[in-house]
Amino acid sequence: MQRGRILFPLFVFFPISYYSAIIKSVRKETQKKHLYPALSNKFENVGHVVGTLNGIEICNLDAIYIAPSGVQKERIKSEDLFIQDIQGRDLKLPPPSKALKKSQCTPLFMCAYTERNAGAVIHTHSKNAVLVTLLCDKEFKISQQEMIKGIWNPGLGRYNKYKEEIVVPIIENTCWESELEDSLRAAMHKYPNTSAILVRRHGIYVWGSTWEQTKAMCECYDYLMDLAVNMKQLNIPWHAVEWRP
Ligand SMILES: [Zn+2]
Repeated sequence: MQRGRILFPLFVFFPISYYSAIIKSVRKETQKKHLYPALSNKFENVGHVVGTLNGIEICNLDAIYIAPSGVQKERIKSEDLFIQDIQGRDLKLPPPSKALKKSQCTPLFMCAYTERNAGAVIHTHSKNAVLVTLLCDKEFKISQQEMIKGIWNPGLGRYNKYKEEIVVPIIENTCWESELEDSLRAAMHKYPNTSAILVRRHGIYVWGSTWEQTKAMCECYDYLMDLAVNMKQLNIPWHAVEWRP
């Protein structure tokens, strides 16, 4: 089976039927260039995407498909995609007449490819992620929640257990997204057990071995952060092991 890598920076929940359609697209090389427009349209349809600050990159071991920046994603066509290899060499560019630029997130996604051998990365500007970065200092930590079991621990090579604590590092935001590269890479090295990194007042990067796993983890992280914000409002501690009301 061909290995597919997808990077898309806004959080979205797919209906199961659409999920299946996407999986087929990823596995067929000839259809990959059509996946990006399909996903973009789906994002727009379900109401999770507004504006142009989002994009999708799709790649396998030979080619990385990169979204243009500053384009209404529901309008992106397959010929608008940039294609490069894992070393960053351009394999195909959009028509020059369109004057498109690569997504500003590209170097950050490449970090997950090169440092973590990721198969997919999702970057979102989730409100829950942003709120958590305003409630925590350097790390978001939570334990004893069922959804923790949906988070892969790369250091241990297995999914986390219910009673284990997940620790998500928080890095500081920068004026330009591409300037996050060094701190993102440093956090990946410092926290080998994490599958995500939060960016203060900005959002979250989540990566996994496949786009399906990455999407599922993104949903788990977002659920946990949403829950954490609500727990904070109710003065319920995030990791008190023996806590009872
Ligand atoms: Zn961003």
